[in-house]
Amino acid sequence: MSSIYNKMLEFAKTNVAPYTQNVDIDAKFPVDSFEAIKKEKITGLIVPKEFGGMGLGLEEHTQTVLAFASSCATTGLCYMMHNVATMCIVAYGSDEMKKEFLPKIAQGELLLALAFSETGTGTHFYNPEISVKKAGEKLFMNGRKSFVTSALYADFYLVLSNSFDAQGLDNWIIAKDLNGITFQENNWDGLGMRGNASMPMVFEDVNVDVKYRIGAAGSGAEQVFNVVAPFFVIGLSAVYSGVALNACNTIIEYSMNRKYSDDSALCTIPTVQNHLADIYTKATAAKHFTLAAAKSGANGDADALAQIISARLNASEAAVAVCSKAMKIGGGTAYAKRIIIERLLRDSYAAQVMAPSTDVLSIWLGKALTNQPIL
Ligand SMILES: Cc1cc2nc3c(=O)[nH]c(=O)nc-3n(C[C@H](O)[C@H](O)[C@H](O)COP(=O)(O)OP(=O)(O)OC[C@H]3O[C@@H](n4cnc5c(N)ncnc54)[C@H](O)[C@@H]3O)c2cc1C
Repeated sequence: MSSIYNKMLEFAKTNVAPYTQNVDIDAKFPVDSFEAIKKEKITGLIVPKEFGGMGLGLEEHTQTVLAFASSCATTGLCYMMHNVATMCIVAYGSDEMKKEFLPKIAQGELLLALAFSETGTGTHFYNPEISVKKAGEKLFMNGRKSFVTSALYADFYLVLSNSFDAQGLDNWIIAKDLNGITFQENNWDGLGMRGNASMPMVFEDVNVDVKYRIGAAGSGAEQVFNVVAPFFVIGLSAVYSGVALNACNTIIEYSMNRKYSDDSALCTIPTVQNHLADIYTKATAAKHFTLAAAKSGANGDADALAQIISARLNASEAAVAVCSKAMKIGGGTAYAKRIIIERLLRDSYAAQVMAPSTDVLSIWLGKALTNQPIL
């Protein structure tokens, strides 16, 4: 396995794993983990070296998210969203925008987040209703984004809107403290992914500067398909493969340590051995398929997007299946929350609803495989 994956696993042992239980119990953003991520400048993983970053790409993004999510799904998810936003600037930002943002991201001074989903369009976030209108020389953004992970903790938010001067969509980078922006602090109380700090973000006559539009007028949809899709979809695949691996490792260890009165261990029961074999197979397959799909994406293979979507579908199913079976092996101890399996099971359910949801993605994959237009 690559050195970056191993390095990030080591980093996660001391900077992610110790906080993850309280992140879940208190439903609090993993502040300490992100302080360490910033301090070590891992925020700049995919920032090109000329701007002071590490100059790495899709494969290392995937490996890092996988390593973080193997301890804490929330940290993996928030971090991967930061990278998705960063990559939009790297791929489409003007020289001026790159000079303004990329060195700061590389130095760990800025954290980014994605404000794409809206209530009116749900999982189809690529059809936003939020508008930007011209009034004299000024531009005003109005609307509401429904789920914004890392809300209040991120410094800048990528916002997808209808374009004011072209057909199609625009992708903006918006500072959190602009006049007219409010976050509807709802104390995010999700079933799982409880440290996400996901909340609605409202825009009321927010005066936006056109220099903060990423890329050409109307290029938002192109950015969604060329950048957001590969980095985000493989990122989700990595997050939920990480959840499956965490459950697998946890339950293997538990089955060896749980002893009966005759000193026999749980893992000596053949049915349990069968279940462990199934769990290991699913979790390992999810990890390797995710890494292989990322490699395919980095190589620019013709079927890379199909592999990435497929890896995400596989990882999403694997996470739920592995955690459910681990709950069974963990018995009452797992059910009573004395081991972390129930947290992982709760986290795993988000895999199927994160946009584009698995139901929507499987339709897209079926269309792509048969040469039909996706949308
Ligand atoms: C933990 C978490 C964190 C999130 N973080 C962010 C974030 O940072 N930024 C952001 O922009 N969004 C975020 N989201 C929002 C997410 O990406 C989705 O947009 C949101 O979950 C959609 O919810 P909804 O209730 O509107 O779904 P709906 O659109 O109402 O869908 C409900 C169900 O119907 C299915 N469905 C809908 N349309 C179709 C179709 N055409 N074909 C087949 N099935 C369909 C869906 O798959 C889903 O299962 C987050 C969500 C969660 C759960």
